[in-house]
Amino acid sequence: GEEARLAAEEAEQQLGLRQVEERLHRDHIHRVAKPSPEYPNYQYLCKVCSVHIENVHGAYKHIKEKRHKKNMTEKQEETELRALPAPSAGQLRAVDAAVMETARQQGISERDFEVRTSVVARMEEVIKTRLSGRSPGCDIIS
Ligand SMILES: [Zn+2]
Repeated sequence: GEEARLAAEEAEQQLGLRQVEERLHRDHIHRVAKPSPEYPNYQYLCKVCSVHIENVHGAYKHIKEKRHKKNMTEKQEETELRALPAPSAGQLRAVDAAVMETARQQGISERDFEVRTSVVARMEEVIKTRLSGRSPGCDIIS
């Protein structure tokens, strides 16, 4: 009868919603159990973007946004990096040796470092003096 048909329809809708939400979960969009007082009409939350979304329709639209896709890629990379096994002692020794060797070849001495620091300080002084009294955005080369 009518009631059974309605019940079946509702069950179908529930199933549909569950499938939709499973799809949304893969994009880290979850239905909020208790809407926050700030966003009472927002049913979903995207955890990678930290944005509230009104409904399923909005969630589907959100999945296609560039910002969301970018955040998803970053999240994916982060997850993969975390899943990497820890380095072995041999690998650590190799990295240490490579860093020390590079520092020996390319590094600067403490004396060089001090000289460079003082050059930077002098340049900053010059720039400040030259720029004082001028409004930002005007041509500094005169
Ligand atoms: Zn998102």
